[in-house]
Amino acid sequence: MAGADGAVRRLAIIGSGPAGLTAALYAARAELRPVVVAGVPAGGQLLITTDVENYPGFPDGIQGPELVDRMRRQAERFGAEFVDDNVTSVDFGRSPFSLATGTHGPIRAEAVIVATGANARWLGLPSEERLKGHGVSACATCDGFFFKGRELAVVGGGDSAMEEALFLTNFSPRVTIVHRRDRLRASPIMQARAREHPKIGLALGTTVKEVLGTDSVDGLRLVDVATGAERTLKVGGLFVAIGHDPATDVFRGQLALDPEGYVRVERGSRTSVDGVFAAGDVHDRRYRQAVSAAGSGCMAAIDAERWLAERESAAAPRPPASRVSG
Ligand code: NAP
Repeated sequence: MAGADGAVRRLAIIGSGPAGLTAALYAARAELRPVVVAGVPAGGQLLITTDVENYPGFPDGIQGPELVDRMRRQAERFGAEFVDDNVTSVDFGRSPFSLATGTHGPIRAEAVIVATGANARWLGLPSEERLKGHGVSACATCDGFFFKGRELAVVGGGDSAMEEALFLTNFSPRVTIVHRRDRLRASPIMQARAREHPKIGLALGTTVKEVLGTDSVDGLRLVDVATGAERTLKVGGLFVAIGHDPATDVFRGQLALDPEGYVRVERGSRTSVDGVFAAGDVHDRRYRQAVSAAGSGCMAAIDAERWLAERESAAAPRPPASRVSG
């Protein structure tokens, strides 16, 4: 079993979204023979993405699961090994680093790339779950294009909600921001942009009770928080922008995280632990795209490869210095 034979691997990669898989491809081609602990289910957020039309190289688009499957096969072709299991705890306190897995046994490695991603938060409504990918989305950049000409709603009061609403005005004649409180959380400049936009309306002090529609979204059942009064808002799509949660629980106490749990990085992909690198949405709250995650995975693999090379050359026995007689 890959990596569980007690041998110390040069590189382990945790996560198998575009960041982890691109890191695996680059590391495999650098002959590091990486072991990828892929997670269960493997594949990250692209697994729940239908049409991907903004990943370069696919002029006719590609389904999210197929894109990750292709990335995985490409990494395997160059010798990356995959373990379909979750990492349950890590010990980054000493070298080699150690990863405990659910059923596979421990994996030890000299360097680690953390690419566990982040998950969009959802409202938790059964109707939302049923219509995900059929009019309910958590990514306007990914899916906005499919909603051309339809009236839309965005739920959330933070910067992401403002940004999503502003972006959606490129496609939609009317975007309603639905927020549970009377005050928005977003920064003043983002609030001003949204409030002043002629296509954007605000439904403050309002929650979504139900997403209406059978095979696609027809509207929302909204509730006025103060009065409890219900009304229907006719929209053809709902974008949920209530934040993301980075998948970093197992790294608490091992890596420096910011107050919201994202891995802190500096100088490219370096984390607070020498020899541990981070790639993709686990540290990137800003771009969150498959292609930016893939680019970040490439960077982490190059950083890890150089780090290993420097370490190994520092540890190599030096030839005796030749004496120069004068
Ligand atoms: P956020 O700032 O945490 O805002 C989340 C919003 O969702 C809040 O308004 C919150 O309501 C609401 N919310 C949370 N759970 C909810 C639920 N279950 N039901 C209904 N509403 C719920 O998250 P974010 O907007 O994704 O931003 C995250 C960070 O990235 C922030 O620091 C932000 O400034 C930054 N960011 C910056 C930019 C930019 O500068 N262009 C763009 C995007 C993000 P409450 O207000 O009532 O808590």
